[in-house]
Amino acid sequence: MDFKQYITVVENFPKEGIRFKDITTLMENGEAYKKAIDEMAEFAKDKDVDVVVGPEARGFVVGCPISYCLGLGFVPVRKSGKLPREVLGVDYGLEYGKDSLNIHKDSIKPGQRVLITDDLLATGGTIEATIQMVEELGGVVAGIAFMIELSYLDGRSKLGKYDVFTLMTY
Ligand code: 5GP
Repeated sequence: MDFKQYITVVENFPKEGIRFKDITTLMENGEAYKKAIDEMAEFAKDKDVDVVVGPEARGFVVGCPISYCLGLGFVPVRKSGKLPREVLGVDYGLEYGKDSLNIHKDSIKPGQRVLITDDLLATGGTIEATIQMVEELGGVVAGIAFMIELSYLDGRSKLGKYDVFTLMTY
């Protein structure tokens, strides 16, 4: 399936000069959304994955249905102040300043094999912070799956040693 036909490229969002890849038009199409999730789940199905992890909010849009397809649990990664129990936090660089991402400390057990998912790989900062938390908790990154990779931002250079799958590349 040509998934790109369902992505809307929005000029100058959220600010001047950015060409935002809007996945909501893919999500609105039941057939395209299902095929996209099925292909991402297919990538993971022979990797002996124990649990799926994804950062808010669009990482939930892909990660939750993938975990459902695989019959696995889903662990949310959230911005600071959102998770109610004890968390592990990691600072990550944004274009302006810093933010931090959190994960529940008891959500991943040492040795568990983890599939990390997000909608889009840009600079790789979000996924790098997510990997760091998974590994600090003793998880093993079995694979990383994105709907979209922006190859011109070279986020993949941060993911050299991991098994990375993307449905679409710009
Ligand atoms: P990174 O940390 O790799 O620079 O940015 C990736 C994160 O920012 C992802 O969690 C993704 O949801 C969001 N993001 C950045 N640019 C875009 C975009 O053009 N479209 C969408 N859908 N998300 C984006």
